[in-house]
Amino acid sequence: MSRRRVLLVEDDEDIRDAVAYILRREGHEVLEASHGGEALDRILAHGQPDLILLDMNMPVMNGWELAAELKRRALTASPIVVLTAAHDAQRSAVEIGAAGFIGKPFSLEDLVTLTAAHLAGGAAHAR
Ligand SMILES: [Mg+2]
Repeated sequence: MSRRRVLLVEDDEDIRDAVAYILRREGHEVLEASHGGEALDRILAHGQPDLILLDMNMPVMNGWELAAELKRRALTASPIVVLTAAHDAQRSAVEIGAAGFIGKPFSLEDLVTLTAAHLAGGAAHAR
């Protein structure tokens, strides 16, 4: 399997650092964004990633706003996995049509497993 690109969108720096570290250790390429606006910039600069890991509650542009913006621009090739507070995770995923979700707090091991499962579902390096 070729190297897969994951866009990690998370405003909590500690979570972002930990998740980016573990996914890179798994051999994935990880692009990081601290809010939806940065995520959109990354996508416009690098193309659509194989997977978007998306926090919902963020400043500047939150997860719902980013998902709406990607739909508006027809940038919908990347599956999205929602990372958010456990009691909201499933509902948020349904609201934005995400491929999956994981509730915070999550274990890095569970996140690695979930990421691998979604990456195995198909690549999307389309621009
Ligand atoms: Mg957040």
